[in-house]
Amino acid sequence: MKDFHIHSGLIEHTNDDIFSIAQKAKELGFTEITILEHISPFKIKYPGNSDPSNTIFADKISDSYTRRTSTVSVLIEQCKKAETEIGIKINRSLEVDYCESFEKDIEDYSKLDLDYLTLSSHYVEDPEADSENRLIHIGFAENTDYFLKKYGEEKLLELYFQNLMNGVSSGLFKYVAHLDFFGRILKDYEPKKVMKYVEPILEEIIKREMFLELNISQENPQPSLVIVEKYKELGGDKLVFGSDSHSVSDLVNSIEKRWKFVELVDVE
Ligand SMILES: [Zn+2]
Ligand SMILES: [Zn+2]
Repeated sequence: MKDFHIHSGLIEHTNDDIFSIAQKAKELGFTEITILEHISPFKIKYPGNSDPSNTIFADKISDSYTRRTSTVSVLIEQCKKAETEIGIKINRSLEVDYCESFEKDIEDYSKLDLDYLTLSSHYVEDPEADSENRLIHIGFAENTDYFLKKYGEEKLLELYFQNLMNGVSSGLFKYVAHLDFFGRILKDYEPKKVMKYVEPILEEIIKREMFLELNISQENPQPSLVIVEKYKELGGDKLVFGSDSHSVSDLVNSIEKRWKFVELVDVE
């Protein structure tokens, strides 16, 4: 049993430390886990709540930079220690908010002592906003509403998937998290209607031999099962579970969901 998406207590929205998570994972029968934290090379201010406590922002401000490097080095050090002491394979990763204009910063992350980088798309670029405030976190209803009112749903999908495609083809990542992330927020989301955007991305993921995550943190998995079917039809065979746990209890609770989905899709 493996889980490639577990957050630890290194940033403010999580509670449990790497050791207690690794210990519980071992007790539950996991043989391999990935511990990761959010990291963003940019600062987001607009509009609505971008919840800065969720993310390590590595921008130009030197204080944040110090915090970022110290947090990441603690993550690396603790993962290594827990791996030896507890006896479970622990991959070290960062959940990186991708944006094309920050590829250079992301390249720097890939030089750190991590196993791989996790591609994560939580943002859509507002084409009309000024350069300071152009990235909008679409995991918050007020932000998505703002975007939908201004540009409409089709534009949101188009920009979201274009960004994701750029991330996948950047070659900087090995793992794609919650592929249709906006499905958590968008009402009446119909995975079938995004297939024209999704299919070329899935092809690229397969070609590059990247891992595709089945994120089971919400009631409905991400990607949606229709997308998973398409992935398999195209020849994809690297679907893995990511619980997106933020605590030991999340990890425990993820087990039941895992059994539910393991019956539906053949996933490691
Ligand atoms: Zn995420
Ligand atoms: Zn996450």
